[in-house]
Amino acid sequence: MSDSDVLSYAELKVDVLCNGVAYAEGFLPAYAARPDWIGKRRAYGNSDLAQFGTTKVPQEFRLKDGTICSANFVPSSPYQLSISEEGPYLLDTRKDTAFQIRFPLEPKAYAFDLSNGRPFKEVATYYGETTLGFFNPGHCYYFDEGTQCRFCSLGPAREETDHVMKVLPGLAQEAVRLSAELDGDRVVRTLINGGNARNYDRGFGNQTRLAVALAEVNREFLGGRLTNHLIAMPPKDFELMKPLHGVVDRLAMSLEIYDPELFAEICPGKHRDFGRDRFLDAYSAAVGVLGPGRVYVGLVAGLEPVESVVEAMWRFGEQGVVPAIAVFHPGRGSIFETYPRPRPEDILAIGREMQKVYRKFDFTAFIESSGRNSIDTEAQRYAF
Ligand code: SF4
Repeated sequence: MSDSDVLSYAELKVDVLCNGVAYAEGFLPAYAARPDWIGKRRAYGNSDLAQFGTTKVPQEFRLKDGTICSANFVPSSPYQLSISEEGPYLLDTRKDTAFQIRFPLEPKAYAFDLSNGRPFKEVATYYGETTLGFFNPGHCYYFDEGTQCRFCSLGPAREETDHVMKVLPGLAQEAVRLSAELDGDRVVRTLINGGNARNYDRGFGNQTRLAVALAEVNREFLGGRLTNHLIAMPPKDFELMKPLHGVVDRLAMSLEIYDPELFAEICPGKHRDFGRDRFLDAYSAAVGVLGPGRVYVGLVAGLEPVESVVEAMWRFGEQGVVPAIAVFHPGRGSIFETYPRPRPEDILAIGREMQKVYRKFDFTAFIESSGRNSIDTEAQRYAF
């Protein structure tokens, strides 16, 4: 099989996400020799099952039809990234077949500093080629108490990263302007994500202030060209969601796991300090502020039965809440580092049901064409 035989790039993406990618011999030096190809940034955690230090590695690639796919390093993967004279390709070593790929370009803004002297890339990250991400705060208090989500590698990853722990609104605005000046219209959206503050209401307030600053710079300097996306833990006081109206286009809150018992087991901090019931109420409150189709429930596929995820997608869909599904990939340093990877057939079963939910309720992906670990864009396109 090669590109000419591919029936579905969505299915290929799922298989790659479930297996990860290895590097063919000579790949890393060849990748490093291309300064125009983007190097991986680790603001959100470490999805590579090896430590690469300052060695430049790829963070994502696009398949021939444009499908974006994460490059999560797994040394035993049957998929290998490779580079020939004709360009980069993905090799399935089980069938000795090659698929043409391309790597996103290193943003010009990555070479510049902001006005406080800090490099742009310590404050902002290009994610999935077209999303400008701000990770704030860079710490999640669950790690202090050993109650972090079992799949999360944020704590250990932060020991090795140069990202700032706190993104100041003024610097985020500067980063947006610099990105537009240097990289043109490549970025089509901003995305705020981050760890959790112990005081949920204060944490949500900080994220809101950052979102307001991004909406402002977008309106005043970019003619409102960008859409503004926020992933946040809900506040305890739902009134605090009201200021998001007219500020964010989409809000995602990550329940992660739908099954109540597995939720308590896999996300002990969220279970103990916030609670599943309060989470479920938060979605209704958010839909009341932003309207149906603009609030997303983040779920991790591969850690609970398929039926449970399917039940969640329909239940939330009926409420106007869009399922956003990330495929579980063990992160280096996470408690689930050695947990079995998902089975492609399970993820495909979820994808086939998910596209029905998207079609029925006319949903769109959280970050269309940019979600390298998710199957949202593929569900929106009915690609399964
Ligand atoms: S809430 Fe969970 S997934 Fe999010 S940063 Fe904290 S530990 Fe990681």
